[in-house]
Amino acid sequence: MSNITSEYPHGGLAIVGGGIAGVTLALGLVARGIPCKIYEQGHSFAEIGAGVAFAPNSIRAMRACDANVYTAFKAVATHNTWESKRADRELGRKGLYFDFLEGFHENDKLLFSLYNDEGANSVHRAHFLDEMVKFLPKDIAAFRKRVERVEESAGQGPVTLHFADGTSTTADAVVGADGVKSHVRQSLLGAEKPESHAGYTYKYAYRGLIPMDKAVAELGEEAAVNSRMYLGPDRHVLTFPIDKGETMNVVAFTTTSQNWPDIHKSTRAATKQDALNDFSGWGPTVTHILSLLNEDVDIWAIFDMKDHPAPTYAKGKVAIIGDAAHATSPHHGSGAGFAIEDSAVLAELLADPAAKRPSGLRVAFQAYDQCRRQRSQWLVASSRRTGELYEWQAQGVGYDIEKIGAEVHERFEKIWQGDIKQMIANAQAAFQRLLPYSEL
Ligand SMILES: Cc1cc2nc3c(=O)[nH]c(=O)nc-3n(C[C@H](O)[C@H](O)[C@H](O)COP(=O)(O)OP(=O)(O)OC[C@H]3O[C@@H](n4cnc5c(N)ncnc54)[C@H](O)[C@@H]3O)c2cc1C
Repeated sequence: MSNITSEYPHGGLAIVGGGIAGVTLALGLVARGIPCKIYEQGHSFAEIGAGVAFAPNSIRAMRACDANVYTAFKAVATHNTWESKRADRELGRKGLYFDFLEGFHENDKLLFSLYNDEGANSVHRAHFLDEMVKFLPKDIAAFRKRVERVEESAGQGPVTLHFADGTSTTADAVVGADGVKSHVRQSLLGAEKPESHAGYTYKYAYRGLIPMDKAVAELGEEAAVNSRMYLGPDRHVLTFPIDKGETMNVVAFTTTSQNWPDIHKSTRAATKQDALNDFSGWGPTVTHILSLLNEDVDIWAIFDMKDHPAPTYAKGKVAIIGDAAHATSPHHGSGAGFAIEDSAVLAELLADPAAKRPSGLRVAFQAYDQCRRQRSQWLVASSRRTGELYEWQAQGVGYDIEKIGAEVHERFEKIWQGDIKQMIANAQAAFQRLLPYSEL
């Protein structure tokens, strides 16, 4: 463990998983002098080659978590390329988050647009992670360490992590940041319980990256360099620029009645022709976008925890954050952003001197659970509903564009207005309220 102090008899916290949740938490803890180690199943820190968008609430959470998270983000953040679509504080102008267009019959008809204080802010996942990792101490991570289960001993004893390679280690506490198929969640809630497993939403997505030169030449500048979403029956497609405008990110969602073939895997191989077949009958713009994908593409299954939300995010000295706690469909583009909110709240709670004792650690985890569960589980449910709105499936709304626009707007506003300072203050107040009972 880095930065060992006598307050942590078992060396500090173990973070399971080195994705956006695990790495932002590690940065938040390191910044506050809290010893921690990351156990990652991969052979290095690695993210997939795809885009991820961040909204104003997530950007505020980056700053609250650790200035280095924000610095890393700024190094790679990409905005809408057109000046008129960017936020400008001096001019008091909001920035475009997404233009929503008809993708099916009335090709390219603008339906509605969403604006916020930051506009569109997207990164290439792998590049963002690389930038963040530069700020971590060199010895903070152990790779090729796949956690199978964690086990808490009674009283002041440590938490034991058991790895797939047959080895084990101990820590003062464990935070599971091990994603949608979290093993820490299973240890926490019971592997046999439905809430330990995210379910298939009967939607999947093709993802692709198109060189921007090619996208501009084929689609025209406005469509290629700004964030857009094309809506239609049972499907939708979104595009936005990443890599400082060098690349156009494409995600094409399809609703299906078929089961996902292997529930243990998140992706399966497919072809561009599969995507074109899924979108047959769609307008020329969507067809054109899909025709720019590589011949071989991956399909991503969309899982979430809406049907069986976790009844708690913490028990004893084990907690879960990010997708491990609240795996969500991506229709609000906020799963990673909420993971950073988790990290900011948890890092601040753990910085309290009283949280450095085993009893205080448990209370910090309890306070984290109390303050994060409602908002993040609302996100999971709202994201499902929003996916239905985009695809004209939502009960009581269907293809009423005015209603779709109004409801989508209201839901995004609730996300964007999330006030991380208030969330932290609420969590700290809960910690102080609960603390006296921990000493009994
Ligand atoms: C198509 C799509 C588009 C999306 N777009 C957006 C977006 O625009 N904006 C947004 O905010 N969110 C978006 N999301 C959601 C976002 O990707 C996730 O919420 C986010 O990546 C979760 O981060 P995480 O660190 O919790 O989990 P992960 O990114 O899954 O990281 C988990 C890490 O843990 C490791 N691990 C797993 N199991 C173990 C184990 N047993 N032992 C040790 N290590 C383990 C993994 O190797 C990995 O490194 C999207 C999701 C999808 C599917």
